This record gives sequence, C-alpha cells and structure tokens, in this order.
Amino acid sequence: MIGAGFAGLAALAQLRDRGFEVIGVERGPDVGGTWYWNRYPGLRCDVESQQYSYSWDPSLEQKWTWRERYASQPEILSYARWVAARLRLSPRIPFTREVIAMSFSEVADRWDVLFADGSRVEPRWVSLATGALSTPKRLDIPGVDTFLGEIYRTSDWPEVEIDFTGKRVAVVGTGSSGIQVATELARQASHLTVLQRTASFSLPAGNRPLTHTEVQTRRRHAAELREAERRSMDGLNLPTTGLNATDVDAAVRSARFEEAYAAGIPFTYFGIFNDILESDEANGYVHEFLSSKIRERVSDPRIAEMLVPRGYPFGTKRACLDSGYYEIFNEPHVDLIDLTEHPISSLTPSGMLIGDTPFSFDAIVFATGYDAFTGTATRIDIRGTETTLAESWAGGAHAHLGLMIPTFPNLFLVTGPQSPAVLSNMMVSIEQHVEWIVAALEHLRRDSVVRFEATRAAEREWLEHAAELGRITVYRNANSWYVGGNIAGKPRTILPYLGGVGPFRERCEQIAHDGYPGFLAVSAASGRQLA
Ligand code: NAP
Repeated sequence: MIGAGFAGLAALAQLRDRGFEVIGVERGPDVGGTWYWNRYPGLRCDVESQQYSYSWDPSLEQKWTWRERYASQPEILSYARWVAARLRLSPRIPFTREVIAMSFSEVADRWDVLFADGSRVEPRWVSLATGALSTPKRLDIPGVDTFLGEIYRTSDWPEVEIDFTGKRVAVVGTGSSGIQVATELARQASHLTVLQRTASFSLPAGNRPLTHTEVQTRRRHAAELREAERRSMDGLNLPTTGLNATDVDAAVRSARFEEAYAAGIPFTYFGIFNDILESDEANGYVHEFLSSKIRERVSDPRIAEMLVPRGYPFGTKRACLDSGYYEIFNEPHVDLIDLTEHPISSLTPSGMLIGDTPFSFDAIVFATGYDAFTGTATRIDIRGTETTLAESWAGGAHAHLGLMIPTFPNLFLVTGPQSPAVLSNMMVSIEQHVEWIVAALEHLRRDSVVRFEATRAAEREWLEHAAELGRITVYRNANSWYVGGNIAGKPRTILPYLGGVGPFRERCEQIAHDGYPGFLAVSAASGRQLA
C-alpha cells in the first residue's frame, strides 16, 4: 500500500486482518496523508466530522468522539493517529520512504518497486493510495526565489506555528484552501491582501460544537446511517425532492435555496432540485441566489461584484465552506485584488509586480491548488507491460472504474480518475474502493491468480459512459481541476465520475458478484484465463 492517509490505513488494516502479507509505505514522517501536509491555519474538512470518519470498523465510531460539526485539521490528524495506534498499524509502515519507480515483470508477475534510498521490494500487488490532491501545482510565477520575505504553501505548511501578527500578508488563490487561510490570517495580519483569479462559491459552515445528544444519536443509528450514506449519490445521504428548479415558481425555488444555504452543506444544492447539474437555466438560478448572498455579506458593492463567481457553472469547481470569509472584506485592513486583467508578473525582493504595479509584503501564502489525480502517480516512474503511466495518461488520465489501468497489471488505484471520489464524501468513496480491492484480492487468492488487469474494452466502455455524463451535464462548461483546467497544457478530461457513489458502488458490486467481467486473471497453476 503506497500512502498512509485514510485510504492506505484502511487497506492496510483490512488486508492484514485477512491474512495478507502487507506493508504500507509513506513518504511523510507520519500517518494522515493530506491531513498531515495541510496544516495551514483555518483548515477544516468540508464534510461533517461524524460522516468524514471510518465506518468499516464499527468500534471506531463508538469509541472516538468528534468535538465539532466540522473538524479542524488538528482534530482529524489526531483521529488518523489514534486509528493507526488502536489498530497497531504504524509498525507496518516504513515512514519517510518514497517510492520513485516501479516496473512490472512479466516473468515474475510482480512489481519491482524502487525507493529513493535505493532499496527495493517485489510485491505481487501494489495499491496507490496516494490521494487525488497530493501534489501541489508547480509555482508558475517568475522570480519566486528573489522574494526576501516569508513564503508559505498551504499544501505543505510548516509544523511550527507561524505568527503573522503585525505583518503585511498576501494570499494567492481563492479555492477552499485560500478562503480558509485568508479568513484566519485576517485575524492576525496588520494588512491582508487576497489575490483572486477565479472567485469561488462559498457558504457559511455554521460550525459549532457537537452536542452530547448528537453524538449519542449518531452512535445509536450508526449502522443504518452509514448504509444510507453508502447508497446515496454523494456519500452524505442528503434530502432529495424530485423537483426541477425550472418547473417550480420563484418563491418555491427561493425558499429551497434559503434552506440549503442555512444547512451549511454545499452538496445540498444538488439534491433539492434534480436539474441543477443538468440544466444551464437551473444552475443559473443557484448562481444568482448565491451571488445575492455575497452581495448581502460584503458592504462595498464594488468588492462584492469582484467576489461573485463568473465563467463556470455552480458545482463544476468544489464549492467552499467558510467561517466568515466574505466578512473579512468589510475590515479596513483587508484588500481584494482581481488578477484577471493584470496577473502577477513576478515576485520581487520586496513583494510582487501585479501587471506593472509593485506591491510590498512581509509574507506570501500560495494556495494555488494541485495537479489533481495525476500529479502524484506520474511523479513515480511507473512502467507497465507496454508503456509508462505518464505516457499512458499523456492524452488524459484514465482508469477502469478509477480502479485499474489496462497494461498495468496487479496495480490498483484507490479513488483514481473516473471514480466519484472527489465529488463525494471522500471517506465513503475511499472505503468503497478499499473494500472492493480487498474482496478482489481474496477472490484472486482463492484461485491462485498471479496476474489481474482491466481490459481495454471494459475501460473504453466505462470512459465513454463517464464522458457522456460530462456532456449531458453542466460539466461540459467546467474549467477547474475537475477537468485538468487549472494546469496549463494538461489534457481536458472529466476526471471524477458524475454518476454518484451509490450507483457506482452497485456497479462495482455487480462486477465482483459476476466474477469480475472486464478484468483478465491468470492463475499460477494453469496459466488459464479465468475471467
Ligand atoms: P484550488 O481549488 O485549485 O484553488 C487554487 C486557487 O489558486 C484558484 O483560485 C486558482 O485560480 C488560484 N491560482 C492558481 N495559480 C494561480 C496563479 N498563478 N496566480 C493566481 N492565482 C492562481 O485549490 P485548493 O483551494 O487547494 O483546493 C483544492 C481542493 O482541495 C478543493 O477543491 C477541495 O476539494 C480540497 N480542499 C478541501 C478543503 C476542505 O475540506 N475544507 C480545504 C482545502 C482543499 P484559478 O481557479 O483561476 O486557476
């Protein structure tokens, strides 16, 4: 298992408990994955804590008590450490060991895995549990090395506490990370400048401590709640109405939109009306409503207009949850600069040039996003039976069910491209993939299978289906990391699967039930093809 984030830990425990000889490998010094590296002030998960936690071992949710509705990064990292300790996983994870290359031997039907320190292992099976958002986007701004002040990246925040008191701080980027860190730094900095290229949609989180009753109720009904979440579209089991926004009158629409806003869960908008992700008109209604909320929250109408998202449909870039983001722009020491006309030309020793205008800062925080889905996997030199992974994905990342890539036998991905992953409660998607992989390995062990891979035909059919969902939804106008739009030159492909986690789970279950059609299996004993 490569990666000791939530996917890696779950897989490690489940495989060990089923008698597999398994190790986890982690490039960081600790468990937690994204929750280890992203330690920036203000970071909270955008899924409620009681849902963003493991369900596969029921004892975990009976023993761990979440403190807040939306957990902070320190609390989530403590949870990951607690799970690793409770399940005695850490001894199986060599930390600070980075995989740099892997090649598949057709003679041995094994992977040859090379680490940065020169050591190797030769496992039969490898799973990449390396996360969809784990390799930051390269800083493509000239002069980064010339800046004499402090530079931070939200994706790799220092472990020591940074004091921004009295400093002039710039935050570059206004996705989930930028919004959260800017809100927090506005409390400390003497002057904060938020540099925005594309505005995000954001809702107030309504974060608060969980009550004893909420915790107990969730525990009592854990089994049925988890099952409903697993079968839902988004892994959250939010209410659906069956209505179309385009069929109801404005008063009904507005009432529903207000309820969703008060709920503090962005995914709610996809369930209250059926057509939000299908019809440009319906999507436009949400856009209009959320824009009106920004205008209510920001006193200066000129700044409010700058903060209104433009150029992409609601839902095609992950909507954010904030704890007072828009309100920071009502403070005299906070500025917003729109970079669309005049981008950052370069960093300078004292700050940066925006267009031709110089700005001085003591610290610059980059919250500029990730090379999503492909960055981490292609950073490893992975060689299958015909080509490298980087070559295979050069025209766009692809995987059958987000799980396996043809010509890369015995290599599983956890929440890879064309799986619902990032469009859902990630924990539910992680668990579904891990459970599928563990069940597949048990099946393969029973039949003494030494080689297993997705067929090109099955993958093609899946990719066509996934792409079709992109064409018939508002995703046809998407331009975010969901489609590779945030990286210059990255091929445009709809990376997440849009069909929902419940239907996706059923499809995966059916395939397992039917003996893995769409996958080729070769057994050691006979060399015959089993499926
Ligand atoms: P992001 O959504 O990709 O946002 C990156 C921001 O940086 C965008 O506003 C982008 O503008 C801007 N940017 C990039 N390069 C720039 C440049 N050269 N000059 C100026 N601006 C630039 O990344 P993120 O905020 O780290 O979030 C990524 C994902 O991680 C989220 O969508 C979410 O799924 C997850 N996340 C979740 C949470 C949470 O649970 N609360 C928190 C953080 C992250 P453009 O859009 O114009 O490129």
